[in-house]
Amino acid sequence: MNVVKEVPHETGNALGAFIEEVKKRNRHEPEFIQAVYEVSESIIPYIERHPIYKKKKILERIVEPERVIMFRVPWLNDKGEIEINRGYRIQMNSAIGPYKGGLRFHPSVNLSILKFLAFEQVFKNSLTGLPMGAGKGGADFDTKGRSDNEIMKFCQSFMTELYRHVGHDLDVPAGDIGVGGKEIGYLFGQYKRIKNEFTGVLTGKGTVYGGSMIRPEATGYGLVYFASEMLATRNDSLKGKTVVQSGSGNVAQFTIEKCIEEGAKVVTISDSDGFVYDPKGIDREKLQFIFELKNERRGRISEYAKKFDCEFFEGERPWKIKCDIAFPNATQNELDEADAQALINNGCICVAEGANMPCTTEAIHAFEKADILYGPGKAANAGGVAVSGLEMSQNSLRYAWTRKEVDERLRTS
Ligand code: NDP
Repeated sequence: MNVVKEVPHETGNALGAFIEEVKKRNRHEPEFIQAVYEVSESIIPYIERHPIYKKKKILERIVEPERVIMFRVPWLNDKGEIEINRGYRIQMNSAIGPYKGGLRFHPSVNLSILKFLAFEQVFKNSLTGLPMGAGKGGADFDTKGRSDNEIMKFCQSFMTELYRHVGHDLDVPAGDIGVGGKEIGYLFGQYKRIKNEFTGVLTGKGTVYGGSMIRPEATGYGLVYFASEMLATRNDSLKGKTVVQSGSGNVAQFTIEKCIEEGAKVVTISDSDGFVYDPKGIDREKLQFIFELKNERRGRISEYAKKFDCEFFEGERPWKIKCDIAFPNATQNELDEADAQALINNGCICVAEGANMPCTTEAIHAFEKADILYGPGKAANAGGVAVSGLEMSQNSLRYAWTRKEVDERLRTS
């Protein structure tokens, strides 16, 4: 699912003129244009009222990456054949600190997707209040069906070029889709060999070599904390609520874990093949099965349906299932206007984005019109990068905070 959305056509106003210019300069980059549109729509009225930002061309500057790096990643597969992928690092903005943002390994990766992610990261990172600039990177490499040996060889080749562009005071990547603890370990090992130094150049590392407690959990936990705060504004809580969520990767897994702790019932889980509906709810035992299925065996989510006797909806998304709360936790543009309407009609009261830009512009407008709680990813999924910021501080101090200390900082950030 790599859905591309056209942004609404605006004419005769400041937003329309600005977006036309962005489109002209970034032809063939629909996701990037969509992300810029969503931000511009809310901040251009403010800029219009404050000419200083207009005069200094703040918006024009912020949509232009400081640097774009694109490189060849050649590597040898298990059959001894040469494979070539394309690697990227977008160094978007270093106004308030070193570039910071994840690496995505997925066949859909291209310049447009990484530029949209890097652009979103600018706002997300500054919202944490930590001194982090913004970047994003990755490769059009599919980890699915690859042996550990192949993933290691790919990561080593990727870092053999990337190492010269990153550093603990310059650019500190982390994980994203397709890049978890294992990949970060291979990347860090190669960086260390080439540079002959042990520094905090990556976050999301294993705890025995400089990783922070709670980093794997941080995005999912942070998302649930964020939703709890949103509900509290309406004197409500997660307890007893039915939750529909997408994805079965890092963000999804720890969203489910925290929902269970908070007394909510999660009834869906998905991957790119379709979704499972489990009306009884995912409990701790079923979550253990998901951890093992997805993180160790790297299997398909349809196996969950077989194991726990639930229905599997092939090629479908979970938004038509009745719920109180929805967490889109898989990928960009996975929830469109019709999905939003289905959620609203079924009585959903809160949507918080675990993924980056999962809701289309039209879906967001529908939530706003229905006056339900809506948490954009730039704020709702910032728990991961907030703990990455804490990992950078711990690495600089050569110190490790306890699980409780990091969780407390995440909850209050
Ligand atoms: P993972 O790789 O761990 O999991 C991604 C999940 O989404 C998998 O279940 C995957 O299914 C599914 N998915 C990926 N691409 C598609 C697609 N095109 N269509 C349908 N399903 C898809 O990634 P994360 O959990 O880390 O990331 C999920 C989202 O959260 C991304 O948008 C990411 O940018 C965002 N995010 C992640 C953070 C983090 O700390 N990891 C921080 C902030 C945001 P399959 O296995 O079949 O591909």
